[in-house]
Amino acid sequence: METPKLSLYNTLTRAKELFEPINPPHVGMYVCGPTVYGDPHLGHARPAITFDLLFRYLRAEGYKVRYVRNITDVGHLEHDADEGEDKIEKKARLEQLEPMEIAHYYTERYRHAMESLNVLSPSIEPHASGHIIEQIEFVKKIIDAGFAYESNGSIYFDVEKYNKEYHYGRLSGRNLDDIVTNTRSLDGQDDKRHSYDFALWKKASPEHIMRWPSPWSDGFPGWHMECSAMSTKYLGERFDIHGGGMDLMFPHHECEIAQSTAALKHDSARYWVHNNMITINGQKMGKSLGNFITLEELFTGTHKLLAQAYSPMTIRFFILQAHYRSTLDFSNEALQAAEKGLDRLMKGIEALGKVKPADRSTVDVADLAARCEAAMADDLNSPMVISALFDWVRHFNSLAEGQQTITAEDLATLRATVNRWAFDILGLRDEKQAQTAGGDMLTPLVNMLLDMRMEAKVAKNWALSDHIRDELTKIGIRVKDRKDGYDWEIE
Ligand code: ZN
Repeated sequence: METPKLSLYNTLTRAKELFEPINPPHVGMYVCGPTVYGDPHLGHARPAITFDLLFRYLRAEGYKVRYVRNITDVGHLEHDADEGEDKIEKKARLEQLEPMEIAHYYTERYRHAMESLNVLSPSIEPHASGHIIEQIEFVKKIIDAGFAYESNGSIYFDVEKYNKEYHYGRLSGRNLDDIVTNTRSLDGQDDKRHSYDFALWKKASPEHIMRWPSPWSDGFPGWHMECSAMSTKYLGERFDIHGGGMDLMFPHHECEIAQSTAALKHDSARYWVHNNMITINGQKMGKSLGNFITLEELFTGTHKLLAQAYSPMTIRFFILQAHYRSTLDFSNEALQAAEKGLDRLMKGIEALGKVKPADRSTVDVADLAARCEAAMADDLNSPMVISALFDWVRHFNSLAEGQQTITAEDLATLRATVNRWAFDILGLRDEKQAQTAGGDMLTPLVNMLLDMRMEAKVAKNWALSDHIRDELTKIGIRVKDRKDGYDWEIE
């Protein structure tokens, strides 16, 4: 069977386009990563899983992908990204730590959560603070091209001038007039000529900790600058895919395009890919709304909105069951349905493992591969891949029970197809199998401790019950409370 070519929705052109890399078989992909000042949450899981899916799929199709996902550890300010206190510095001030301690701690937390979700590590994970020189050089290029101005030690991008030559707003479908009326003016913006201009370099105030020397002032780069500088450094002036969450489209990605175009005189990324947002019970997620759920809370069931704990694979499966460009609503009902669906799929795959070959096939094994390939090639339609796998679970079960038969050759093909799609590309992991891999002694021991914890709970001995859970967490065993007992897994 011939592999269908990937058609990918390009936000820039608002159309599905045939994916053709600039320099095949190499693919350069840049995705905006987290600002590391808080625990990873649901909002981090969706872009990570979406671009992990694309990364895995391209690799499975034989491309050599250089996947760059940055860590923002400097320059992301509180208001409109370039006004107010640095998010990491603020957290450091509140916790009485060095800003780099905050960045390091939350980078580790993020990586750990991504591992739980079976998100592959990118090829390069550059930090903004490690690329100050490259950012200063990039700012110089924009100044030399005439699209930036200095004001009181800070450098701002001249949006109006840029817009005369190029279209500022073409990614998000805006024009400068809309942006003018929608930009709120803040105090302390006197340095800018226009409220829609954005900082490329900011002069540091005396109390600002993270600062570097530059030709203009001791200061720090504007938030958008790191992505232009680091994508160019690692992927070149032209690269294939730029990704991120839809919330980054404006202003962040719009500003990235303006910076790169001003400095390089041409577009840098060919395909812009954006995943849609996650809502919770129909509402936007936000700290002030009380529905802000961290991944740790999801995995342990410790948020008031959660009826139970949900395993990392349940979260991954739930996200993959929606197309990446659709909004996705989290609710206990939907997550419980995903948990059941994943369980059914894993049991089906287990049944396939027990099938004995016969001398003829009553199933057409090419059907599953063809359906999965066609779905994925159509703008990464993971829900259709899952639905093809579900349809086949029926066959796996009837093959295992001997109601249908399969030849040895077909059986090998079918198992390879399932491995490719369920594990390699969708990136699912059999969590139950991972548990038993921990050894024969471990399971009865952990169960004994958790039974003791149940007894402690019945006796309302919360200190002991928390102590058992915390000690297990420390050695990498994640306990998930259920209404009728408990579940656990090895992280
Ligand atoms: Zn970015």
